[in-house]
Amino acid sequence: MRKKIIAGNWKMNTTYEEAIALVNDITIQENQLHLSENKIVVIAPPFPYLAHCSTLLKDKAHFYIAAQNCSEHSKGAYTGEVSAAMLASIQANYIIVGHSERRTYFQETDAVILQKIKQALQQNMTPIFCCGEPLHIRENNTHFEFIQAQLQNCIFHLSDDEIKKIVIAYEPIWAIGTGKTATPQQAQEVHCYIRNEIKNNFGAAISASISILYGGSVNATNAAELFDTNDIDGGLVGGASLNATDFTTIIKAMQA
Ligand code: PEP
Repeated sequence: MRKKIIAGNWKMNTTYEEAIALVNDITIQENQLHLSENKIVVIAPPFPYLAHCSTLLKDKAHFYIAAQNCSEHSKGAYTGEVSAAMLASIQANYIIVGHSERRTYFQETDAVILQKIKQALQQNMTPIFCCGEPLHIRENNTHFEFIQAQLQNCIFHLSDDEIKKIVIAYEPIWAIGTGKTATPQQAQEVHCYIRNEIKNNFGAAISASISILYGGSVNATNAAELFDTNDIDGGLVGGASLNATDFTTIIKAMQA
C-alpha cells in the first residue's frame, strides 16, 4: 500500500515566531487528523527554522520535516549552499527537489536536479521530485511529451532501488500560486500517465508503490475531490499550508 502524503511547502514565508506558531497550530490538532504509517504529513519550513521545527515534531507520530532544496554537491567551498548531509544531521526526512520556482528562477536543469536527488538518497532522505508543464505547453497539448522528457532526463537515470525511495509531485506550473487548479480529471490523467511511464521503465510493482502528489493551488475546498482519484496520493501544498485551519482541512480530506 503506498503512502498518502500531505506536504506543506512554506516557500520564503514566515518569521521565526510565525513558523513555530504554525507548527504548533497544526500539531495541536494531531488527534483529529487520523494520521498513520500510511497517511503522513510533511512540513517544509525555510532553512533557518528547520532544526527547531524538527525538534518540535520529534515526538509527533507521522509528522516529518522537509527541506525546500539542497545543494547538488556533498560539501566544500559553495558559499551559501546547504548540503543533504547537513539536513540529515538535523533529522530532516524529505527534500523537495526540482520545484518549478527553482527551475525557473535559479536555472536548475534536469542534470542538476538528478544530482540533488542522488545527494538526498545518499543521506537516506526522501526526495520529493517535482515535475510539470508551463501554460504554453498545456495549451499546445504537448504536456505528456514535456513531462516524459523531465522523467527521462532525471528519475529514469535512477536504479530500481533508488527510484523506490522517491516521491513524485506533479505540479502544472500554470496552477502554482495562481488559484487555478487542475481539475481532478486533468490531474488524474497525468498521474496515471506518470505511473504508466514508471511501469514501463521499472515494472508494475515499483510503479504501484510510488506516491505521486498533486500540487497547484490545492486548498481546503478542492482537496477532497482531487484526492478522490486513483492515482493522486496526496498534495504538495504551497499557499494553503501557511494557514493551519486550511492545511488541517486538507490533511483531513486525504483518506488513508
Ligand atoms: C507549490 O509551491 O508547490 C504549490 C503547489 O503552491 P500553491 O499551492 O500555492 O499553488
